[in-house]
Amino acid sequence: MENNHMHTHSKYYQHTLRECISCIGVGLHSGLPVTMTVMPAEDNSGIIFHRRDLDPARAEVHARWNTVTDTRMSTTIANSSGTSVSSIEHLMAALYACGIDNARVILDAPELPCMDGSSVTFVTLIEQTGVTPQTSLRRAIVITKPVSICEGEQRVSLTPSRTPTIAVNINCDHENIGQQSYSCPINAQAFSRELASARTFFYQEQLHTMNKLGLARGGSLRNAVLIDDGEIQNKEGLRFDNEFARHQALDAIGDLGLAGAAIIGSFQGFSSGHKLNNALLHELMLNQDCWCYTSLQEAEENWPAIVEITNGLNISA
Ligand SMILES: [Zn+2]
Repeated sequence: MENNHMHTHSKYYQHTLRECISCIGVGLHSGLPVTMTVMPAEDNSGIIFHRRDLDPARAEVHARWNTVTDTRMSTTIANSSGTSVSSIEHLMAALYACGIDNARVILDAPELPCMDGSSVTFVTLIEQTGVTPQTSLRRAIVITKPVSICEGEQRVSLTPSRTPTIAVNINCDHENIGQQSYSCPINAQAFSRELASARTFFYQEQLHTMNKLGLARGGSLRNAVLIDDGEIQNKEGLRFDNEFARHQALDAIGDLGLAGAAIIGSFQGFSSGHKLNNALLHELMLNQDCWCYTSLQEAEENWPAIVEITNGLNISA
């Protein structure tokens, strides 16, 4: 969506939605019906969730890496009054990949609608409505040194890369899933074509425990892939051979969307999940010598110099 009156590329400016989009569904874990409207928002507001079922004084929750309060099966954020919003990751992935910096998300329940268990509905609605450039420059976090987090067999990392990319690997005991990997650049086209329709998946043997924890109550074969003893239970089968790896990449993009700026770097995940993805952002923010905060324009035009200078390599300068 180029805007002709701007002299530089419109991609260097923050964007919001052209108009509101709405959808109705149920929360995957709560099973609660919910109506969600995503509205345009001002420059520099980021993604703000608003619970209209609550007192306006405590209804707002900002989607940021440091507002995450729960990462079991989905990503939940909360404010200081204890108001929470859960399962934000599939919408966050769509907003981040489609280049929407600022939006207000109005909900009448504590959990987002899961739709078909993927991001495809959100991306389709965003594509139909379109995005519009704003007047403030888009901010970027340029990764200049590797940052990683490990927990047992799980590992996530961010490494320097001029082009934002994502690569995930999963290694599952079930023979019908086994080892899967997937990698792609992080941009609107690749997301829409390769990742958006990859669905959430559950193992039958986890479901009983999850239900006891109050999770997956809204889950069904219409909004998730169910695996029982290594067999896919959905009649329609899988949407991609490596749908699980693709969904893992989708989830990671949604979690990276909580950084508050475009991440210029490469994400790698080995059996990654929401918990580690969020821990990685905490680790990144703690290690300020591993990244540089600048405008997207500066990041794209001067990437090699930014990486060298922050690594102390540019001694001749
Ligand atoms: Zn997911």
